Amino acid sequence: MIIGIDLGTTNSLAAYFTEDGPKIIPNRLGERLTPSVVSIDENDQVFVGRSALERMAVHPDQAASLFKRSMGSKKEFHLGNKCFSAEELSSFVLRSLKEDAEYYLGEEVTEAVISVPAYFNDVKRKATKRAGELAGLRVERIISEPTAAAIAYGLYQKREDSKFLVFDLGGGTFDVSILDLDDDIMEIRAVAGDNYLGGEDFTNLILENYLEDHNLDSNGLSEKEKTYFRNQAEKSKCHPEQDGSYRMQAIIDGVREETVLSRKDFEKKATQLFDRIKQPVRRSLSDAGVRVREIDEIVLVGGTTKMPAVRKFVSRLFGRVPDTSVNPDEAVALGAAIQGAMKERKESVREVILTDVCPFTLGTEVAVKMENDRLENNHFCPILERNTVIPASRTEKFFTIYDHQTQVEIHILQGESRFASNNVSLGTIRLTVPDNMAGEEEIDITYTYDVNALLEVEAKIKSTGERVTKLIKNQETDMSLEQMQARMKELAYLKIHPRDQEANKVLLLRGERLYEEATGELREALEMVTRQFEHILDKQDPSKIAEARKDYEEALDFIEEEMWTN
Ligand code: AMP
Repeated sequence: MIIGIDLGTTNSLAAYFTEDGPKIIPNRLGERLTPSVVSIDENDQVFVGRSALERMAVHPDQAASLFKRSMGSKKEFHLGNKCFSAEELSSFVLRSLKEDAEYYLGEEVTEAVISVPAYFNDVKRKATKRAGELAGLRVERIISEPTAAAIAYGLYQKREDSKFLVFDLGGGTFDVSILDLDDDIMEIRAVAGDNYLGGEDFTNLILENYLEDHNLDSNGLSEKEKTYFRNQAEKSKCHPEQDGSYRMQAIIDGVREETVLSRKDFEKKATQLFDRIKQPVRRSLSDAGVRVREIDEIVLVGGTTKMPAVRKFVSRLFGRVPDTSVNPDEAVALGAAIQGAMKERKESVREVILTDVCPFTLGTEVAVKMENDRLENNHFCPILERNTVIPASRTEKFFTIYDHQTQVEIHILQGESRFASNNVSLGTIRLTVPDNMAGEEEIDITYTYDVNALLEVEAKIKSTGERVTKLIKNQETDMSLEQMQARMKELAYLKIHPRDQEANKVLLLRGERLYEEATGELREALEMVTRQFEHILDKQDPSKIAEARKDYEEALDFIEEEMWTN
């Protein structure tokens, strides 16, 4: 069985393909989204999702979140006395999704299509693929998130050939992509974005307005208070009033205080954020050479596109109402599942060939002759330009620059700066060329970038026909097969917390967190209800446990509310 996985920064989810189309697979708690959080306890028990989130509050040193941002990097995450890379932490999330899918579907899941942001370079894509393999999944295809989203809208619904603009506004990032579906070929034409713009900025507007209204200075708040007010602002943001205003409530000095931010005032405050959104939108359109009116579908992705103000802004910007027929949280996972079905050649799916773009410019360092005939190094010569449709292959000719030059070094770079030193170095190729006069030896350099975003560089000495090729790999994180198998064994030893006990565990962890936060009578009450619940768990009677869990949850809700009123 093959599933589609959206491995997100804050949440992850899986989907599978049925005769009625793609469907989301609920996790062990029956939820559609699994927080991308991992925690490990003293007994080497791994927690993923909501239970990990609860554990993070009490044992922050044993938990990690937001690790997708470090995918493919050398960054190490310390969880208790253990140390993991971002791809290893991601492998726990993937393993948990795989196990939940197997339970739900009643069959083994062996393969997955995993989505990544369009701007992920080859190093990050390979790290994502390895994360899947570490989780015991064959990952034949990594798909770009906007492509997956467009597939969920376009292909499943069997639309005609069209141009899509995918508008993805998540918690902390904004990505915009232009895609073209033409003759069964889906092509990403351009991608652009802002890595520091998302839902959190909108939450801040509501939060700041509230604090100002109640003469509170956020610098004077404790960490615990900051988290509390932020959570209240977040709740208000996700549940606007009928008239579009935001009613934020919180308890200050034991009294419930409320502030209503009208729709109009909110939109005024958000003007700056909307202005920032316009910039990458313009850039993507101009990079793709597409005019707004040529766009057939505006596809919304990411939790923040559920906000009425964002939808209104998008409608105004593009002069039409965006398609909201697919849940913006789920489009990417659904698209990945459809891609999986295409791979399996399911008859009900229209087969398309996917293409992508190379998100950065790739090139090499060259010396340039200045006015006084002096050679100046450190210049960047682009070979594959940003937003070139891939797979792509391009050759450029280069020549020796000195008389009797026998050594040539090809410095492979990625980036947009004119100067080599400002760009990212991906590797080098060294060549020995025949001894000759300057400009007499020609070296043809070919850059080939494939659909899995792997870069191959070939250098050919024209006079001798000698060729040297290099596949760009990330030296630091690349593992040999043996290393990979050894690491898989080590990680397999760490077991994901058993699914049948997960719901109880989440509540017990929440009880533990509240106990740490509470004092006096509430602490005693917590201890009492927790003991009662544990007592029933010990008896192992499933029907009693279900009932007790409900009571325990209600008690925790009540106590949490009381904690802020006292
Ligand atoms: P994502 O990264 O796509 O999971 O999006 C997460 C962001 O979406 C967070 O900032 C959430 O606050 C926001 N979000 C989720 N649901 C809603 C909603 N119903 N209304 C407004 N924002 C939401």
